[in-house]
Amino acid sequence: MKIMVDATKCVGAGLCVVAAPKVFSQNEDDGLVIVLQENPPPELHESVREAARLCPALVITYEDD
Ligand code: SF4
Repeated sequence: MKIMVDATKCVGAGLCVVAAPKVFSQNEDDGLVIVLQENPPPELHESVREAARLCPALVITYEDD
């Protein structure tokens, strides 16, 4: 899996961090999303899909292997 985010459209809602805290974080200053692992291991894939579903700005996309 490869994760792509368009941080310029992130609204800092933080739902991705709640859904997948090992994969996403937020910048302390502006709250914008930070991807901790662009190629997360299989056990984290479902949490990434959940984060993509929950993101209100729809900025999280991914390619499955
Ligand atoms: S859920 Fe979406 S809008 Fe909210 S911080 Fe994560 S990427 Fe940004």
